[in-house]
Amino acid sequence: MAIIASNFKTNHTRKSTASFINEVATFVEENNIDNEIFIFPPSTALDSFEISSNIKIGAQNAYATQKGSFTGEIGTSQLDEFGIKTILIGHSERRHVLNESQSEIAKKYSFYKELGYTIVYCIGEPLEVKQSGLEKTLEYIYEQFEGIDTNYENLILAYEPVWAIGTGVTATNDDIKNVHSAIKEKIDKPLLYGGSVKVNNVNEICSIEGVDGALIGTASWIADDFKQIIENTKDL
Ligand code: PEP
Repeated sequence: MAIIASNFKTNHTRKSTASFINEVATFVEENNIDNEIFIFPPSTALDSFEISSNIKIGAQNAYATQKGSFTGEIGTSQLDEFGIKTILIGHSERRHVLNESQSEIAKKYSFYKELGYTIVYCIGEPLEVKQSGLEKTLEYIYEQFEGIDTNYENLILAYEPVWAIGTGVTATNDDIKNVHSAIKEKIDKPLLYGGSVKVNNVNEICSIEGVDGALIGTASWIADDFKQIIENTKDL
């Protein structure tokens, strides 16, 4: 059973998110889909939705606080309002565009772990590291586990090479297999692949040994495409 996650990033409004989620929820119910599905809308679109238990709505980001004076951030008070218990941590855009440090990420991770959240934790190397070979790539990735309790029961990992995110360039099956099998040897947790996964390659990628599903940005933002992605992976 594949885990399929959609990261909206800074896309969709409150209204379009609601119609997307309703459409996907109906599709999942009518087709008896048992994939585990995650949808990460922008924080302004978080809400309570009528969805089956195999669909989870998560936060793309939140601060390590219940509430307080952290301008521009949200905390668990805002997530609790909608019963949200899933969070994405360590996404490459937060690491590299918003300069979130490993220590900030680890602090956030510990905070949400203590509260029992399902954490989708992202790791992945930039292009110059990938070009230095597998050993350097793994070294870089392992540093992203600094301060992270990898035995946490509600942890899902996502390997997302930075050079493949939002670029249209997907890692080769061999790249994915090599990195996934190395991570899997060390950490026994579900491991998703992310980075330009598309409707027409999601089945192939999710069938690679050591791949338990996909975290998808760009190709998942149209409800029909996301439904097709779910359809294409429902028998895995
Ligand atoms: C992502 O945002 O996690 C992602 C993998 O994006 P994309 O599918 O657009 O590369």
